[in-house]
Amino acid sequence: MKCFCHHDRDAVAQCSKCGKFLCSECAEVWEPPLCPSCGKSTSSYNKSSAVSSLILTVILFVIGGLFAGHMYSIDNSLGFSLGFGEKLFGIVLFGYVFAAIPSGWRALSGITSKFFLILPVVGWLIYFGIKLGLSFIVGLVMLPVETVKAIRTLKRG
Ligand SMILES: [Zn+2]
Ligand SMILES: [Zn+2]
Repeated sequence: MKCFCHHDRDAVAQCSKCGKFLCSECAEVWEPPLCPSCGKSTSSYNKSSAVSSLILTVILFVIGGLFAGHMYSIDNSLGFSLGFGEKLFGIVLFGYVFAAIPSGWRALSGITSKFFLILPVVGWLIYFGIKLGLSFIVGLVMLPVETVKAIRTLKRG
């Protein structure tokens, strides 16, 4: 069998999607091996999901920041007064925590999705609450990792 792209080269692998034969050079472009057309569709899919996850991160960051800003306006009416640096820190912190929820949620879904399918409705509500709480914590770690990954995907394409 010869490579689909290079008819003079022996195939050493197959496209993991459509099964076209690939030489060693073509097989190394994607992991798992993909032919050029399947590789393209995969990378554009990753690109669009990277864009949407970055947009979601920014939106949630803004919501978190606004939430913190709103709390400060309540604080002011109660007579607290925070310095500008403290306010900015709080806004960034809340923005970060909010933006981190989807990352944490996805990470937890990878672990828990099968296990909790057997629960009744009440169990689901408890599960939802616990998962949301854990998402805050797990997301704080996962958000930077996922953001770097998304940016790398965009740069590569
Ligand atoms: Zn293919
Ligand atoms: Zn080839």
